[in-house]
Amino acid sequence: MSEIEDLLREDLRGQTAYGAPQLDVPVQLNTNENAFAIPDDVAAVIEEYISREIRGLNRYPDRDALALREDLAAYLGHGLTPSQVWAANGSNEILQQLLQAFGGPGRTVLGFMPSYSMHPLLARGTGTNFVDALRDADYTLSPGHVGWAIEAHDPDLVFLVSPNNPTGTALDPAVVDAAYEASRGIVVVDEAYAEFARDASSTALGRLEGRPRLVVTRTMSKAFAFAGARVGYLAADAELIEKLLLVRLPYHLSSLTQAAARGALACAPQLQAEVDELKHQRDRIVKNLRAKGLPVADSDANFVLVGGLVDAAAVWKAVLDQGVLVRDVGLPGRLRITAGTEEETTALLDAFEIVMKQEPSLFEESK
Ligand SMILES: *Cc1c(COP(=O)(O)O)cnc(C)c1O
Repeated sequence: MSEIEDLLREDLRGQTAYGAPQLDVPVQLNTNENAFAIPDDVAAVIEEYISREIRGLNRYPDRDALALREDLAAYLGHGLTPSQVWAANGSNEILQQLLQAFGGPGRTVLGFMPSYSMHPLLARGTGTNFVDALRDADYTLSPGHVGWAIEAHDPDLVFLVSPNNPTGTALDPAVVDAAYEASRGIVVVDEAYAEFARDASSTALGRLEGRPRLVVTRTMSKAFAFAGARVGYLAADAELIEKLLLVRLPYHLSSLTQAAARGALACAPQLQAEVDELKHQRDRIVKNLRAKGLPVADSDANFVLVGGLVDAAAVWKAVLDQGVLVRDVGLPGRLRITAGTEEETTALLDAFEIVMKQEPSLFEESK
C-alpha cells in the first residue's frame, strides 16, 4: 500500500472513481446526454443573462439563488413556491446534500439496483451505508417489494428513480406512495428524465402536498441540454430545504450558473420542442428493435434498454465497429442506447441491422 493510500479513509481504500468510458467515435449514444446543441436563439438569450452578471463578479453570488428558485418553481408548476425548490451544481450535488443532511456515518440509504450508478457512490462519499434491495427479474419494482424492503432495512433515506436508469420505465405512483407509507425517513424520487415521460402525470410532484418527507429531484442536464452547465434542483417541503442549508457550501452556485440556468428556463418552450423530437427518436428505436425481434423495455426516458443479446459485450464491440458507441451497463444480455438526432438514430439502427446479419449468433432466437 502506498503512503497516500494509507492515509485515505478506510472505506475509500482500493475503490475506483466513477467514469463512463468515453471514446472518440462519430455517433455517441452512451451517456444519456441531450443529442442537440443549444440552438442559436436560445444561446443568445443565455449570453445576455450571463453578460449582465460579469461586471458584478467581484461580489459573491446570491447564496440562496432566489431568482433562480422562483423561475424553477414557475417551471415546475403544481402550485410550488420558491421556498419549496432548491438548486445546486447538478442533481448529483442535490443528492449529495440530501445524504449529508439526512444520511452520513451510521445511517442507511436504501436503493433498488440496477439503477443510477451514482447513488451508491454518493452514499459512499458521504459515509452513508448503501443497501441494495434489488428488483424483480424484469427490473420492475412493485409496491409490495418496496414496502417489504423498507420494513426489513429501516432506512434513513430511500432512493427511487422514475423513469429508472438504465431501464427507462417510469414508476407506478403507487410505488412512491408505498415507500412513503412504509418508511419513517426521507423518500427521494430521482426524476432526471421526467420531461421525456410518455405520460406527463407520472411525476411525483403532485404528491408532495402533505408529505413533508418526500423529495423530487430534477436536472437541467437532460431535457434542457445543459449537462455542461451543472444545474440540478429539487422540490420538497420548505422546512426540509432549510435543513439542507446546514450542509451546502456558503456560495455553492455561481452567479454565472444561476444566470445561465435562468436564461435557459426562459427558453423552456424552444427546448421542449427538442425533447419532443428525442422522444420521437426514442420511440423509433423501441419500435424498430422490437420489429427485429429484440425485447426492449418501455421507455419514458431519452434512452432504451435492449435485451435478447447472447453476449452484450460482443454486440457492444460490433456496434462500435460500425461507428456507434452505446453503453454496456453490466446487465447480462442487455445494452443501453441513448436516443440521438434523426441521423444518429438512423446510424444506430443501421449498425444493429448489419451486426444482426453478420453475427446472428450474438442474438437470441427471436420468439
Ligand atoms: C443523468 C442523471 C442525473 C443527472 O445528474 P446531474 O448531476 O444533474 O447531471 C441524475 N439522476 C439520474 C438517474 C441520471 O440518469
